[in-house]
Parts: sequence; structure tokens; C-alpha cells
Amino acid sequence: MIDVISFLPGKRKQTASGWISFNAPCCVHRGDTQDKRSRGGIKPNTDGSWSYHCFNCGYTASFVLGRNLTFKARKLLEWLNVPVEEIERINLESLKHRSIEGLLGERQAILQQLQTIAFEDRDFPADTQPLNDAAKEYLQNRSIALDYPFLYKTMPRPGVVIPFTYDNQVVGHTTRFLDDRTPRYIQDIQPGYVFGTDLQKAMWQSVIVVEGVFDALSINGLAVLHAEINDAQARLIRSLGRDVVVVPDQDEAGMKLIDRAVELGWAVSIPEWPSDIKDVNDAVIRWGKLATLLTIFQARETSKIKIELRKKQLVKRLRT
Ligand SMILES: [Zn+2]
Repeated sequence: MIDVISFLPGKRKQTASGWISFNAPCCVHRGDTQDKRSRGGIKPNTDGSWSYHCFNCGYTASFVLGRNLTFKARKLLEWLNVPVEEIERINLESLKHRSIEGLLGERQAILQQLQTIAFEDRDFPADTQPLNDAAKEYLQNRSIALDYPFLYKTMPRPGVVIPFTYDNQVVGHTTRFLDDRTPRYIQDIQPGYVFGTDLQKAMWQSVIVVEGVFDALSINGLAVLHAEINDAQARLIRSLGRDVVVVPDQDEAGMKLIDRAVELGWAVSIPEWPSDIKDVNDAVIRWGKLATLLTIFQARETSKIKIELRKKQLVKRLRT
């Protein structure tokens, strides 16, 4: 068992949301002032995996049991004064836990490298905080489980920060502001990025592609983050090697996504939801995750003619 907590400074405290906070060791190595307000946070998982986030300088790092330590995780351990031999021991110990799931993940990572699908590591904005009650309530009202590592920030307006990860590394983020003023979102997104690959389980045979980040979070789907799928995104989605089902938003913009899905040869699902249900997240709020997934799989179509027909019905309804 790899116990990261034993490497943390003695002065630390555990928060209700599972973060252990202590003085962040990263900031001074990144040209920032020494943290004295316990702004470093680590969220350990029961299996020994963990993710780290600095609420002072924005540094992020994570560790997944069964995988090699990443560059950023090694750096963090170094800054915590873990001796080099100990870091190597942790790495070896981790690789002993390589599971079938881990091997499948690695195979996938190799395939992705061959196809040069890669994203730069990114940090968060420096002014993020753990979720406050208003932000938690917002997520719960949207039927979003709080186990995703959401953050919160107040500038320029209060909002929930949703980390974009790829292969469990932070590669960007989006902020959903909690007031309903526009813009509702601001994003740090890299070209070709698709949200939600880390929400997929190794054994799953199919993957649901939706537009929005909350749609993806509410059913463990992938989000293309706008009403189109560019070529790089299509490549990434294909690299998962699964049966793809595209579920467009039931609005005018969503119709473009249907055409693109047909062009890519993917299945499309346009469930017959009532007119006040516009997207997957609306459906999950109304009926829950399981029932929503059922409506999606029941309405799954692969025939181009049937998809066109269903689209025409929807367009007619949208225009009346
Ligand atoms: Zn820091």
C-alpha cells in the first residue's frame, strides 16, 4: 500500500470534502511566495491513488495506482522532501498493481501516442478554492455527483471550475458561472480536446457523445463542448475503440451535430423527450441517470434514413 499521507507535513488538516490541506510545497519552486495558509490540498483515494491541487499557485499533479508516476507527481514528492530512492520504490510498488484495466489503459495510451493524440499539462487559475455550499447546491440541483474534483472561484464572478482531464492529467478547465449572466462559461481548452475520456471504464463497449460538460458528467459520456465535432475530436473518439452513439441537444444547434454524426458513420439517438427537456442533463434531472440511459439506447439509430426521418420530426416540432 502506498500511503501518500505519511509524506505530508505534520501540520495538516482534513476537510469534510476529503481534501487534506497543508502548506503547499510547490509555490516557492514556481516563483511564487511560500504558502503559509495551508493552500496545498491532496485528495487520496481508498486504493492509494491521489490528486493534488495548490490553491495558491495552481499547481496540479495526480497519481493512479498501477501506473508510472508522472513528471508532475515526481516533482511534488521531491518538493515534499521524499528521497529519490523512496520515489522509485513508490513507482515500482505502483506497477505491481497493474491490473487488466491498467494494461488496457496502457494499450490505449500507446495507440493514442501512435496517433499523436496528446495534450499539454495545464495548471488552474491561481485563485481557486474548494467548493462552497452554494456551488455544491448548484451541482446537486443539476444531479451532478460531487465525486468529480470540482473547484470554486469568485473572480470575476462566482463559478464552479470543472477540470478538463486527459489520462488523469489536468489539460484545461471550464468555469460555469453561478449567476445566469452571459457568458455563462469561460474555457481553457486545447484544440481537439474531448471531455470525459477519464469517465469511461475499460470494459465498456459503447460511448455516448454529447455537447455539454454537464451532459457528459451526468451519464459518464464524452462532451465535444460545442455543437460540432472537429476532425481531431473525431480521431480521439475513434481511438477509444468503442461503439459511438451521438446524442444531440434538442435545439436548432443540435441539428448540425446530427449531420456530422451521420457523416462520421456513428449512431445517433434522439429520444422522444417532452419539449422542455432540451438535453441529457435536463433528462437526468427529471428522470435520473438509469432511465435517461434507457431512453438513449432505445432511440439509438444507425440507419441514415431513419436518422434523417427522426431529425425532420424534431425540426418540425422545434419550429412550431
Ligand atoms: Zn503552489
